[in-house]
Amino acid sequence: MAGAKAGAETASGDSGRIVAALLAWYAQHRRDLPWRAPPGARADPYRVWLSEIMLQQTTVAAVIPYFHRFLDRWPDLGAFAAAPREEVLKEWAGLGYYARARNLHACAGALVARHGGEIPRQESQLRALPGIGPYTAAAIAAIAFDAQAVPVDGNIERVLARLFALQAPLPAAKREIAALARAFLPLSRPGDFAQGLMDLGAAVCTPKSPDCARCPLARHCRARELSIAGDLPRRAPRKARPTRRACAFWLECGGSVLLRQREDQGLLGAMMEVPTGAWVEDGGFADHPREAPLKAPWRRVEGLVRHTFTHFHLEIRLWRADLPPGARPGPPMRCRWVPVEELAGEALPSVMRKLAALAARSG
Ligand code: SF4
Repeated sequence: MAGAKAGAETASGDSGRIVAALLAWYAQHRRDLPWRAPPGARADPYRVWLSEIMLQQTTVAAVIPYFHRFLDRWPDLGAFAAAPREEVLKEWAGLGYYARARNLHACAGALVARHGGEIPRQESQLRALPGIGPYTAAAIAAIAFDAQAVPVDGNIERVLARLFALQAPLPAAKREIAALARAFLPLSRPGDFAQGLMDLGAAVCTPKSPDCARCPLARHCRARELSIAGDLPRRAPRKARPTRRACAFWLECGGSVLLRQREDQGLLGAMMEVPTGAWVEDGGFADHPREAPLKAPWRRVEGLVRHTFTHFHLEIRLWRADLPPGARPGPPMRCRWVPVEELAGEALPSVMRKLAALAARSG
């Protein structure tokens, strides 16, 4: 959709005034986030890159403590690129979507190897790096370098769908919304413009109860005029999540537990786990521990661990065995013995921490 058309379809049709109103609002009401610079100033590209990877599929509130910990430990890109991957995964544990941590580490190596340890400013160069897709490339380019790029996140989608009263449901409407966003993009301060839309969506044009009385764009908003703001954006019905089931094996000996590193690729890749068998969709639980990593006097633990991933629910039944001190077998492939009191320092994803908690109650 062309810029002129975009402007014509708002309630009062003036994209220049919309941009000006948004930037004025942003200067006064923007969120104070640790990776941001004041309006009109440039943010540190390392901070922007780190925060944008962390924010993929994760809330701002969840990211902030991790961001501070990463920055305390690795204050610049050089320090981060020199960190062992294992340490990065440990610091990431609990934030979820662990492919991001592996990609973050791989990306730091690529930035050193290909770009002399600098973060490039062009979207095309950013997109060629590990873990950086179209959205993240646009966000880094706009926020760190004020490039003519517009990252369309969920907040921006919602604000634009309402501003133009778009009736097409998401996710099919994403292209149309991206075109609207590009049509608005101002020549100066595109980074503040994008962040202003994001903040407006987070603080005022919220999913369930948009506060139109406080909105700087109210007089331009078609959804407000039609009293349908709360119904937008429309969404295609979601498919129900299936349930997968698996068994896990807690083997303890002399105060240590056997952990295994998962394969590099796939869900929870390269993270440590309480060894699990296959995760079977719509399957039952095996009634004997045939998938255990070692022979041992296994007994079933009462209770289930439940965890929800983006596309499925997982239910895990735990089996436990305790070997006498001195009877500790050598660890199988990708496994190692870890003292139970040192589990907190391991790169254990949340679902594995739930299993550890269940095991602690069963000892
Ligand atoms: S007027 Fe209401 S619906 Fe429209 S953009 Fe503002 S908060 Fe959202």
